[in-house]
Amino acid sequence: MTSQPVSIDHFIHGRVTPGTSGRAQNVTNPSTGVVTGEVALASAQEVDEAVKSAAAAFPAWSNLPPLRRARVMFKFLELLNQHRDELARMITAEHGKVFTDAQGEVTRGIEIVEFACGIPQLLKGDYTEQVSTNIDNWTMRQPLGVVAGVTPFNFPVMVPMWMFPVAIACGNTFVLKPSPIDPSPSLFMAELLKQAGLPDGVFNVVQGDKVAVDALLDHPDVMAVSFVGSTPIANHIYETGARHGKRIQALGGAKNHMVVMPDADIDQVVDALMGAAFGSAGERCMAISVAVLVGDVADKLMPKLVERTETLKVLDGMNLAAEMGPIVSEAARQRITGYIEQGVAEGARLLVDGRGFDGKQAGSNCDHGFWLGGTVFDHVTPEMKIYKEEIFGPVLACVRVKDFAEAVELINAHEFGNGTACYTRDGHIAREFARRIQVGMVGINVPIPVPMAWHGFGGWKRSLFGDTHAYGEEGVRFYTKQKSIMQRWPNSIAKGAEFVMPTSQ
Ligand code: NAD
Repeated sequence: MTSQPVSIDHFIHGRVTPGTSGRAQNVTNPSTGVVTGEVALASAQEVDEAVKSAAAAFPAWSNLPPLRRARVMFKFLELLNQHRDELARMITAEHGKVFTDAQGEVTRGIEIVEFACGIPQLLKGDYTEQVSTNIDNWTMRQPLGVVAGVTPFNFPVMVPMWMFPVAIACGNTFVLKPSPIDPSPSLFMAELLKQAGLPDGVFNVVQGDKVAVDALLDHPDVMAVSFVGSTPIANHIYETGARHGKRIQALGGAKNHMVVMPDADIDQVVDALMGAAFGSAGERCMAISVAVLVGDVADKLMPKLVERTETLKVLDGMNLAAEMGPIVSEAARQRITGYIEQGVAEGARLLVDGRGFDGKQAGSNCDHGFWLGGTVFDHVTPEMKIYKEEIFGPVLACVRVKDFAEAVELINAHEFGNGTACYTRDGHIAREFARRIQVGMVGINVPIPVPMAWHGFGGWKRSLFGDTHAYGEEGVRFYTKQKSIMQRWPNSIAKGAEFVMPTSQ
């Protein structure tokens, strides 16, 4: 039985709002290749309507005591916990990742909402009594106004939640532009926020593509933009936004290395590499895409890694036995296949080739889905394209190096610096790795070190444009501006004008 594609609209001023631009894009279930929806693509005028709604909602929302804003977040948290699996199912249906992984994504998003519930404490200013006789000085943090979020396809729930719970709790109003590839969860989150008591206009969703993003970057009433996506677009957002005088944080692509020292536990390393390279089909900005094998460790590791990759359970994401689901789209599948061909042509040794994987093995109705198996290359070298570029698929490149120093040098020379990991039993090596590596997020025997909600997320080098990381205290700083107040009262003001620079008296 086939059902008609549903129309996926905008959410403006507390209401689902059908698109009027005349432009739309298909939404597809990657497991089956079936078109399940048609998402509206906003025009600049529709973006303007959303921004106007957010601007109109700002004075009242920002004036509400932080505790009352926090109470809306507490209610939203409760609703998210009730609807956790519904959200996860939506993610699997449009993104393809396995259901248990989608549940994990929702949980990591919920943690940011939990953090945002503590906003009264986070917005607390500081105060110095008697900076000069009878004069006090204090600072407060105030919201910016309308802020926007532009998010990628690979985490349609978690990445928007890196942004809007903190932004809204700080007193801003928000316009989200999600990826058109998996747009449904954003509308569902908008409905839950409304149910939680969020006033109309505080959170809006405009579906769309470059047209909507450019309209947000051009709009004089948008004060800041948080972006997560690929590096070329992050760079464009950063430069364009800055030119328009906006505050920007733009998180980009990655090529994350895992160093395996000769003293590491090989079985633990195989488990870690399997999950980090092939979980979510490698479509994570924190996926491990390069294993850096130090000394003779490759000889012990490779046979086990190859055997495990060959038996990876690639199945429809709703099958609870699945370890990996499909690739998000046919275009992405072809791009990844192109990289595998490139790696062979460049002379890397292809130990496991995922290209032969047949969708029929993944489940009934899966033969028209976008399938690939796990792929492993050995003897990859730093000049190869498959080493330098982000593939964003289930392809693991193994590079052999002679010692720890060469491993560190290799990673530090790479243009990306999002995440990295080191597997070792040696405390000194672990400490040196954490100190010397030019990467924003580091795991010591932890393959995917995504920081907790109160620590903040962000890479270095061309993995992040801007100064502040997402969420955590840096998120609060990004979504607020500091004001400093110097105060005294008439009784303590001496007579006469002062013409010299005021100093402490
Ligand atoms: P993408 O850059 O193609 O798209 C991201 C967003 O930008 C989407 O909303 C998209 O509609 C919009 N967009 C696309 N082209 C645009 C253009 N020319 N002008 C303006 N806006 C445009 O990224 P994606 O394919 O959706 O996501 C995968 C990428 O995101 C990978 O590179 C991955 O590493 C990265 N990512 C990074 C992080 C991080 O925290 N650093 C997290 C998740 C994903």
